[in-house]
Amino acid sequence: MSKPKIGFIGLGIMGRPMSKHLINAGYELTVYDIVADSVKEIAAAGATAASTCKEVAENSDVIITMVPDSPDVEAAVFGENGIAEGIKSGSYYVDMSTIAPSVAISVGERLAEQGVKCLDGPVSGGDVGAQNAALSIMCGGEEDVFNEIKPIFDIMGKAVLCGKLGSGQIVKACNQVLVAVTIAGVSEALTLGAKAGVDPLKIVEVLSGGLARCGILENRGERMVNGDFDPGFRIRLHYKDLNIIQKTGNDFGVPLPVTGSVFELFKTAMVQDRGELDHSGLLTVIEDMAGIQARTGE
Ligand code: NAD
Repeated sequence: MSKPKIGFIGLGIMGRPMSKHLINAGYELTVYDIVADSVKEIAAAGATAASTCKEVAENSDVIITMVPDSPDVEAAVFGENGIAEGIKSGSYYVDMSTIAPSVAISVGERLAEQGVKCLDGPVSGGDVGAQNAALSIMCGGEEDVFNEIKPIFDIMGKAVLCGKLGSGQIVKACNQVLVAVTIAGVSEALTLGAKAGVDPLKIVEVLSGGLARCGILENRGERMVNGDFDPGFRIRLHYKDLNIIQKTGNDFGVPLPVTGSVFELFKTAMVQDRGELDHSGLLTVIEDMAGIQARTGE
């Protein structure tokens, strides 16, 4: 494919930097978000503003969505003035949001009836990965479709085809299991150490070099100790992912005892109105349980 016209829908924390990379790489972009200011920002960076998802689809060969959840993808694709009303047969649709694998499959199958080639391509790497074009992109779909879209993925990060349609979302669910459980573990470690009288910054420093080293300690450890919970990836969205994981575990008959406990901690954070904090803000829930503030820098 010579440089296709790209439509990008969902210009939030992730979608804004991702779409800017595509513009900077010379792609012609048509963009839409339900928040008008986000559309203005990306139009100012060189994209064409659209006023519906349908208009994006009419003007594009490859349509990408990066919206919060399964119902948002269904609304963008099949809602009034949605992608399905404007998309041409032979076009490509790639959903890069994190949604339920079952919904990724049903959306792809319905669009395939209109002659559309579909991939699921959720990402990992967070806002920093999106800004640095260093996302890990987990794809599901046909190999030839993946190979045709790969040059676009290469602008935003590194893409791997994991299997048939929906496989990207399965791998993303696995990713979110590890990230959630690790955040809970780091939170417990910092709270234990702090209550026992050790400077939590020292804990971050020492553990970052040993077997316990991990992305959460590396990217979030110091910020957690400083009480900096600006998102990043919101607790609200990780809770959404944990609901997807619980459902997927039920669908496939896989017990998830550790993830289940962490799910309850994220639910607690939601009930306590902490959903807009970065997911590393789970530390505040563990601190409250221990009756101590491990954070030193707030
Ligand atoms: P966000 O809430 O910042 O952005 C989502 C955007 O989608 C918003 O601007 C919203 O207005 C828009 N939107 C919602 N419904 C729409 C519709 N029907 N039509 C057009 N626009 C619509 O969320 P985000 O942090 O950018 O995350 C997007 C997706 O990527 C989520 O599925 C999330 O789980 C996933 N993700 C996020 C991160 C992260 O670190 N933020 C990392 C990996 C994956």
